[in-house]
Amino acid sequence: MGKYIGPVCRLCRREGVKLLLKGDRCLTGKCALSRKKKAPGMSKGKKGKLSYYGMQLREKQKVKRFYALSESHFKKYYLRATSTEGNTGNILFQLLERRMDNVVYRLGLAVSRRQARFLISHGHFTLNDRKVNISSIIVRKGDIIKVGEKGKNFVVFQDNVKKEVSVPTWLEKTDDFSGKVMELPGRENVNDIPIKEQMIIELYSK
Ligand code: SF4
Repeated sequence: MGKYIGPVCRLCRREGVKLLLKGDRCLTGKCALSRKKKAPGMSKGKKGKLSYYGMQLREKQKVKRFYALSESHFKKYYLRATSTEGNTGNILFQLLERRMDNVVYRLGLAVSRRQARFLISHGHFTLNDRKVNISSIIVRKGDIIKVGEKGKNFVVFQDNVKKEVSVPTWLEKTDDFSGKVMELPGRENVNDIPIKEQMIIELYSK
């Protein structure tokens, strides 16, 4: 399936959870989920009971949409997690969290993963002092992520750094425009939305 280009709030309404896809707006009363509680297409209240397969599917869709990934990319992370020694669920979330766009977002240098991806693709970041434009780079312990010198004067960064964000413990803000990976993230670091990763594993294991 191709890239989703429709309204992102629809995705939150579909999953029935705030996926925080629109930056500041998500934390205000303007959030579509707060205003329209029903899932798209359910206005007449015809919602039937979800089968177990349906629940597994929704769980996978929720996480995939939370990280703003396509099906093929998301599955690639799952396959990589299964071929790595250790707990598949933990490894899957560690990989997703270590993506460059997620790190930029978690450091508060972008208001959403989508914005992070846009800014990275336009070459506004360096990784260990080397310019990067690929959002899917997997960061390692000790890596340093910085906004490029030119970008520091851009309104988008000036605005983003003024916002208060709660930076996870595995990352550290070194100054307003940069941060460091202090350790690799764990599953416990992903607590923005409720996730049952076992269901995703079961779905893909069929
Ligand atoms: Fe839209 Fe953000 Fe609310 Fe989701 S959380 S419905 S993206 S405003």
